[in-house]
Amino acid sequence: MSEKSDLRNLNSSELEAFIASFGKERYRTTQILRWLYQKGVHSFDEMTNLSKKFREELSRVSFISTLHPLRIEEASDGTKKFLFELVDKNRIESVLIPEKDRLTLCISTQAGCAFGCRFCLTGKMGWKRNLTTSEILNQILAVRETLNGKKSITNIVLMGMGEPLANYQNTMKAIELMLHPDAFKFSSRRVTLSTVGLLPEMEKMAKERIRFRLAISLNATDEETRSHLMPVNRRYSLKKLLELCRKFPLQPRSRITFEYVMVKDINDSPRDAKRLLKILKDIPSKVNLIPVNEAPDIPFKRPSDETVREFQEILMKGGLTAIVRASKGAEISAACGQLSGKG
Ligand code: SAH
Ligand code: SF4
Repeated sequence: MSEKSDLRNLNSSELEAFIASFGKERYRTTQILRWLYQKGVHSFDEMTNLSKKFREELSRVSFISTLHPLRIEEASDGTKKFLFELVDKNRIESVLIPEKDRLTLCISTQAGCAFGCRFCLTGKMGWKRNLTTSEILNQILAVRETLNGKKSITNIVLMGMGEPLANYQNTMKAIELMLHPDAFKFSSRRVTLSTVGLLPEMEKMAKERIRFRLAISLNATDEETRSHLMPVNRRYSLKKLLELCRKFPLQPRSRITFEYVMVKDINDSPRDAKRLLKILKDIPSKVNLIPVNEAPDIPFKRPSDETVREFQEILMKGGLTAIVRASKGAEISAACGQLSGKG
């Protein structure tokens, strides 16, 4: 059986091999990458610098997939949530977050998530399936298209639905194209992958040729609390995770971002803040404090602003950069941990 292949599932070297199989020159790959990702075309007919014959040959064995938003919601702070329905009816979401000097797109890597962190609605829905490389990339293209060339997406964060490292291969292929000079051309400092700390995949990632920013969902400073909030900690302990972070190869002057969801009476005490300082002492790091977004299905409350500020102050006094993440888009359930694909 020969099914047509989706060109957006091929990374640059796979695309090059594919083009070479037609006996075509190497620069054709460059041209096609630009059509696919810089122009964002929907059909081979739009690839006007390829011969008609070659375009026909291509369309006989391959196709170009796209995603169309099923719904776009906008919050009063300007955050926009995009709901997409995939060919098998699974639903995923992406969130566009405008800030002073950047426009960040938060994309999904899986439909659902298997890790069941107790504060996260994506975790509640369970795991449906991995996204393909094209489904990851098409979120960027579909959102970009709605901007009509008036604004550009400046940053990509893989912090939407799913655990990117549990969909390792497709995620790495997608990131390669985000960074590729003939594809999306994002700077390596503007692409951030967030993980709960899957150690074997992190080891693998450390050896990848491509470099990008790393964020770790830490959320606790001791094993017991972390296991309580994030069951994955029973498999990959905080201790082992920190050990790996200590030796993880970073880009020059780069730091690991540690995300710390603050939950009232669970991980928000001054003692936690001091312990956080201690465990991150010898890791180039900065901390994002995210007061937990509450939801009816979530058994946690957010700490008071005062508690959050005190926590932050302890970190800052200890010399650690700590930013309180204002939760954007909460009223449309677009904030961290609120993505569940419910339409
Ligand atoms: N699975 C990866 C990528 C998704 S990122 C990861 O967990 O890192 C989702 C981010 O949102 C994580 O940093 C997580 O800690 C945070 N988050 C999840 N639920 C949240 C909630 N209810 N309130 C605030 N942040 C939440
Ligand atoms: Fe999955 Fe991340 Fe949510 Fe945990 S926080 S359940 S790993 S999406």
